[in-house]
Amino acid sequence: QAAATVVEFDGSGRLADGHRVALLANVGGAPDAVNAAAARAEGVGLFRTEFCFLDRTEAPTVEEQTAAYRGVLAAFPDRKVVVRTLDAGSDKPLPFANSDEEDNPALGVRGLRIARRRPQLLADQLRALALATAEESAEVEVMAPMVATVEEAREFADLARAAGIGRVGIMIETPSAALLAAELFEVVDFVSLGTNDLAQYTLAADRLLSDLGDLNDPWQPAVLRLIGVVGAAGRAAGKPVGVCGEAGGDPTLAPVLVGLGVTSLSMTPRSLGRVAEALRDVTEEECRRAAEAVLEAATADEARAVGAAALQRAD
Ligand code: PEP
Ligand code: MG
Repeated sequence: QAAATVVEFDGSGRLADGHRVALLANVGGAPDAVNAAAARAEGVGLFRTEFCFLDRTEAPTVEEQTAAYRGVLAAFPDRKVVVRTLDAGSDKPLPFANSDEEDNPALGVRGLRIARRRPQLLADQLRALALATAEESAEVEVMAPMVATVEEAREFADLARAAGIGRVGIMIETPSAALLAAELFEVVDFVSLGTNDLAQYTLAADRLLSDLGDLNDPWQPAVLRLIGVVGAAGRAAGKPVGVCGEAGGDPTLAPVLVGLGVTSLSMTPRSLGRVAEALRDVTEEECRRAAEAVLEAATADEARAVGAAALQRAD
């Protein structure tokens, strides 16, 4: 699609019946955040902190990290900014954090798994984030990538809270985390679905192989059903469920995600207008009906077709 087709966003995501769905931006540093604020994102749903340090051979100092995080927080005064701790490894190797000796880096020591083996890396990052938070008015939340067990989530939540960060969450990127969502909600304040990795790990298909694009598809019924498990757990716990993978920026999927129990969507800023437009056309009841329909689908094509049919307006 040409840049000319970008639809402007008015800064407030909502359904036809007024039900609010916050539309947030994915950013990798201060320049992205400034751009996202200009596009009227309601906040940041995913700050990929590893993008600040991709070329570093030595771990960044607390001071360097504080400055990098302040740059993003400053672009969103009084707004929500969800900061993800370093997701090093696999498709985003960081020379100072990863070993290059793994045969299967996507299944290796990546994301939170590094933090558990290198506690100082996480301690420094949480300290820098707390210092940045103290200087800026943004409402900071922190989340960990690549969580598979309740113990990992509990350890992370304890460390983040001890560092003084008030709201703590995890990404749901593994089938294990999705299936354990109810238990995970007992230890964290929110979750955010990383649908890129959730599809990769559910379908056992490398997300970097374009040849496997039909498998790396959030419309795959197994992925939709896992999202449904997480959404239902979020509703039962009364806690937020975000989406920050590519699926969050897909205007045809957005109403289905809301129907499955997703409460906010985070995306590349240029998708905000189109997603807002799609949501504004449908009620929560219609979203729920579309969600029920896709949960019955046996194939991705069928899910797309029944989802679209359920959302067809009578007027
Ligand atoms: C995801 O996996 O969907 C996600 C948002 O994280 P990343 O793309 O940075 O791995
Ligand atoms: Mg991911």
